[in-house]
Amino acid sequence: MNTVTEVFGSMVFNDDVMRQRLPKEVFRQVQRSMKDGRRLDSAAATVVANAMKDWAIEKGATHFTHWFQPMTGITAEKHDSFLSPIEGGRVIMEFSGKELIQGEPDASSFPSGGLRATFEARGYTAWDPTSYAFIKDDVLCIPTAFCSYGGEALDKKTPLLRSMEAINRQGMRIIKLFGNDDVTSIKTTVGPEQEYFLIDKAVYDRRKDLQYTGRTLFGAKPPKGQELEDHYFGAIKPRVAAFMKELDEELWKLGVMAKTEHNEAAPGQHELAPIYNTTNIAADHNQLTMELMQKIARKHGMVCLLHEKPFAGVNGSGKHNNWSICTNTGVNLLEPGETPYENAQFLLFLCAVLQAVDDYQDMLRLCVASAGNDHRLGAGEAPPAVVSVFLGDELEGILSAIENDAPYGSKEKELIKVGVHVLPKFPRDTTDRNRTSPFAFTGNKFEFRMLGSSQSISGPNVVLNTAVAESLRQFADVLEGAEDFEKALHDLIQDVIRKHKRIIFNGNGYDAAWLQEAERRGLLNLVSTPDCVPYYLAPKNIELFSRHKVYSETEIRARYQIKLDNYSKVLHIEALTMLNMVWKDILPAASAYSKSLADAALSKKALSPDIDCRFETEQAKKISALTASVVARAQDLEYAVQDVKNITDSLKLARCYRDEVFTAMNDLRLVVDELESCTASRFWPYPSYGELLFSVR
Ligand code: ADP
Ligand code: MG
Repeated sequence: MNTVTEVFGSMVFNDDVMRQRLPKEVFRQVQRSMKDGRRLDSAAATVVANAMKDWAIEKGATHFTHWFQPMTGITAEKHDSFLSPIEGGRVIMEFSGKELIQGEPDASSFPSGGLRATFEARGYTAWDPTSYAFIKDDVLCIPTAFCSYGGEALDKKTPLLRSMEAINRQGMRIIKLFGNDDVTSIKTTVGPEQEYFLIDKAVYDRRKDLQYTGRTLFGAKPPKGQELEDHYFGAIKPRVAAFMKELDEELWKLGVMAKTEHNEAAPGQHELAPIYNTTNIAADHNQLTMELMQKIARKHGMVCLLHEKPFAGVNGSGKHNNWSICTNTGVNLLEPGETPYENAQFLLFLCAVLQAVDDYQDMLRLCVASAGNDHRLGAGEAPPAVVSVFLGDELEGILSAIENDAPYGSKEKELIKVGVHVLPKFPRDTTDRNRTSPFAFTGNKFEFRMLGSSQSISGPNVVLNTAVAESLRQFADVLEGAEDFEKALHDLIQDVIRKHKRIIFNGNGYDAAWLQEAERRGLLNLVSTPDCVPYYLAPKNIELFSRHKVYSETEIRARYQIKLDNYSKVLHIEALTMLNMVWKDILPAASAYSKSLADAALSKKALSPDIDCRFETEQAKKISALTASVVARAQDLEYAVQDVKNITDSLKLARCYRDEVFTAMNDLRLVVDELESCTASRFWPYPSYGELLFSVR
């Protein structure tokens, strides 16, 4: 293999390649349009397209595609060949500037949440020059935004780009107030840590539930789960190591800086963390990472599970969104500085985040809600459904001293005046030991831990960027008009701490007492997706997104619709899968097992009438009784699925799926799992939890 530095980014049309292959003036134009999002003129686009095509063909590409992220949560591609027929039955390789800048895929098979009813069926894709083009599977992929004919966002990238613009706009107002004249733009940065499970392909192929729904719908607890904690950071198995090596290499080629890979808490569970990047690129890269993980796992005879909760009783998988704000001059605005002024600026940005998380806790909870993630959040597993911020004792101590005009520090005991005093240094490693917090300050960034493993990181970062932009807007409004800047700054920070300190919580987020305390503080505890979704339409949230031009009200309503529809559809598929498994495999297996027990008892009796047949008879009775319960509960589930059929209101439908269908699913699972525990292994139609979790050796 070549060295990492040779491989890294070798399949990316990045700055270096552009500098080599584009005329100086065109290169400068591209750089400019990357910086301020201005559209490239058609002459320049033609030059870029040609250079891109030549480069891609040299690398073996034959096709190109606009690569986009519709609201399904996965990426979409429509491949077109570079080939153009010319006279004499010959072909040439062509790729025009127009084809680079804009595409028109048929949008009708992607979810639009009703946007297409009012607008045209066609959608169009538009080149996003801020994210580099790359080659994957011999296809030149051009990252694009995806919009309706009327300009409504039909994807996850468009609002993310808009939210980055919003925080840049408002953040720059603050930056100017602090006199940072060298700074011309700010961006948010993200490093998403990705959790996943690997299981053997052969056992996966025998589980309908995993294939249809991504999670196990049945499964009795294995004798050994994660209780010994021997998997976490344990030795990586050779097969997994080979997978990780290939994954790293493929990601490096695409310019994804995959860095750390280790085992997670549950057996078969692992994590990948890249080095952070600009949010937009981090989002693209995370999509690529998820795609490659699944593809490469298959090559190694394994399947990568990205579902939030593939197995009951063992940890689910999340995605930790490490988030910060950075100036174009390389200053991390969430890192305490060296001078009083830098510290004041740090405190102000910190307060902007506190206020944003408190004011928009509903949106932060909502943006990570899904049927899959409901199994983690609010279900006694990391992290809780209540949004709170962990700051660590040191930082909370400082904020509390500022709030109360009280002395801080053991030595000098002096009052802290923002903008005058240097904050005491707080050692970074004391800050991140609380893994139960959904939103933790980790020294120079915040780690939002509620994301589900299968989710695009775009949605949560749209909310974060926009909510913080709103805090900054309000701060700038106050400070820009202030006569005495330093006093106004101190008062503002004090005021924000007083108003929003209820969101700070450094304790154990899993503790039942915290839920009571959170309720007393007036924090929201939104347990399930249908609880969250109505908050999309709260006037303050519509106001937030439309003010910052991130989502129009129409776009919000579309997303409201899509989230609800998706929730109901997922539960519907899960319910049908369960019923299929029960009627077609599980009940016939139970029946065969009881027959074999009865046959055994009969044969034994034939041998000698007073022979002991307790095992056979007791077990057969038990199986029959459980079978009867399974039948009854499967029928209940069928009724529940029938019942919801006629509900037309999406919110009502989602609630009924949760209250009727999901409840019936859980009841059914309970007896089926018990049945599994007392059925002979060779009769049970599916690989057990033990076989699944420990399948990769
Ligand atoms: P851990 O959380 O395991 O202690 P680190 O804190 O080193 O690990 O980093 C976790 C993730 O946070 C990595 O993806 C890293 O690149 C990312 N990260 C580090 N600094 C920043 C930053 N300023 N902005 C966004 N992400 C960051
Ligand atoms: Mg971390």
